Amino acid sequence: MDALRTIDNEFESDECRKVITQLYEFLDSELTDDRRERVRQHLDHCGSCLEAFEFEAELRAVIVSHSKEQVPEGLMRKLAMLIEEEELIEEEGGLTSDHSSE
Ligand SMILES: [Zn+2]
Repeated sequence: MDALRTIDNEFESDECRKVITQLYEFLDSELTDDRRERVRQHLDHCGSCLEAFEFEAELRAVIVSHSKEQVPEGLMRKLAMLIEEEELIEEEGGLTSDHSSE
């Protein structure tokens, strides 16, 4: 009797897993047109994936709008310094004694 389990359901959940793993790439616009189309088609007829997708999309929108408001200038400067430091370290490792100002 086990053999009569609906294959459709298994395929559906397999497809769902694929779509869910691609949600982030979809939202980041990192998918090829072909894959985006497949995800969109799946979302068209799969309510649970559509829900997950909308949740992710909303979450992302909230994070983006909050991060714009909430990053204080002090922290921005700190981050900029950290990035500069990192770049300096990388340069020190890579540059030879080529000082054009001398
Ligand atoms: Zn699905």
